[in-house]
Amino acid sequence: MTSETWKSAARSDRGRVRDSNEDDFLHRPDAGLFAVADGMGGHAAGEVASRLAVDALEDELIGGDPGVDDLPSPDRMVEAVREANRAILRDAEENPGRAGMGTTLTALALSGRDRWRIGHVGDSRAYLFRDGELRQLTVDHSWVGLQVARGELTKEEARRHPMSSALERALGTSPEVEVDVEGGDVRPGDLFLLCSDGLNAMLPDPEIESLLRGGGDPPGAAELDETADRLVEAANRAGGDDNVTVVLVGIEP
Ligand code: MG
Repeated sequence: MTSETWKSAARSDRGRVRDSNEDDFLHRPDAGLFAVADGMGGHAAGEVASRLAVDALEDELIGGDPGVDDLPSPDRMVEAVREANRAILRDAEENPGRAGMGTTLTALALSGRDRWRIGHVGDSRAYLFRDGELRQLTVDHSWVGLQVARGELTKEEARRHPMSSALERALGTSPEVEVDVEGGDVRPGDLFLLCSDGLNAMLPDPEIESLLRGGGDPPGAAELDETADRLVEAANRAGGDDNVTVVLVGIEP
């Protein structure tokens, strides 16, 4: 596989309520690396945390070599996310005004070996849209996410829950961080969606699924740009309560 094998699009929007956009993303189709980060912290520190996380990930996994043939090993993915955590903690130590800043980080790597790998901390999400069905690849590291995993809440109850934004895991909160790593095969026509919770908090999964389906089956590059716009517009139409970031990666059929 080469970067010719996939098309991609990325959008980040402030939404309709927040004064600033603390989300960030990494969009490196040339290297097969993509990520979303949702920062938190007062005095613009959330913006710094999410930027530091995606920059550290890019440095660790790409550096000067944007080859797409090497899928990072699970250990290397974990180490890259842990380095992002350390970068945030170092910055917060040097800049006390930013103490307590943190971020989510959900990273997707694609390789020449037809595999995908995800590194993930927090409640941003990775989805796979395959054969017309949307499947969440990540677990939400939030209080409500745990309740869903235990069967105490449905996904829809969790989405509307007053504690829906309370995180159980994030970068920047402690020197040690547990990183989820997932992987699987890539198939022609697969569509990956990375998003911050500003998308999935505003839109139930079936609505996200139907917006993806509207982009063609499978969507081409032009359609991916339009689909990214449609997702952001739909989140804003539903209230736009939060910053919303989407990264779409479509594997050529
Ligand atoms: Mg958010």
